[in-house]
Amino acid sequence: MASWDMSYVRTLHRIPRRPGLILGLLALSQVAVVAAWWHWGWRIGLPLMLATHLAVVWGTLNPRSRLFCPALTHLPTRAREVWLTIDDGPSEDTRAMLDLLERHNARATFFVVGERALARPDLVNEILRRGHGLGNHSLSHPDLRFWRLGPQALEQEIGRNQSVLTAITGQTPRWYRSVVGMTNPFVGLSLKRHHLARVAWSARGFDGVDCQPDTVLARLKRSIGPGAIVLLHEGASHGHNLGILSQLLDWLAAQGYRTVLPEASSSLQATR
Ligand SMILES: [Zn+2]
Repeated sequence: MASWDMSYVRTLHRIPRRPGLILGLLALSQVAVVAAWWHWGWRIGLPLMLATHLAVVWGTLNPRSRLFCPALTHLPTRAREVWLTIDDGPSEDTRAMLDLLERHNARATFFVVGERALARPDLVNEILRRGHGLGNHSLSHPDLRFWRLGPQALEQEIGRNQSVLTAITGQTPRWYRSVVGMTNPFVGLSLKRHHLARVAWSARGFDGVDCQPDTVLARLKRSIGPGAIVLLHEGASHGHNLGILSQLLDWLAAQGYRTVLPEASSSLQATR
């Protein structure tokens, strides 16, 4: 059983409560900018406009920003426990990753993409059958334009993926991860509608396009501590995702870390 700090557990699965409020405040800030411009001229109006727009850009592009929407970045424990999260599947790596996790008696949450899940529903069910978690990582993973999608397009990405994963597995995901970690002010509307809590991370290796496995592992090891949420990927064309997971699992075991899933905490379930 995970050694959770009980006062903190209640705040783990945080569904955005009033996403409309932040949208209203943003609209109000622009009315205030226009009023300031009209009253004091561009010397005041222009910097104010730039400041409010910069805040929106920062809040959207910073993967750990909570400006528009709550985000879980860390688990509340002092024990040597980490939450492994694996994005972008299912893929050709999934089955090998499941075998690897099983050999290490480890658990992970797979944040999957709806269109890829529809192509390999067997793998999605296999993830759950082997005792791992399943999260929502959008329907089509539109990485270049996810940051600027409006409410309808986001509902298509997030809401449709909920339907896809529920139809395949009979279970509805509770956790959500933004595409490339970007969360604009409209994301909260869909998360509230589908009772999803957003998960960010505290440890990432930057295993993107130009992936150097040794550098990635060194970055991960540096940022892993008790309660870390670790961001990993599967199915990347560079072909190193499986090797990175394998070396990481060896290192975690050698360091005395065990992997946990928030779902394993019964008190957490009660917060739904
Ligand atoms: Zn992704």
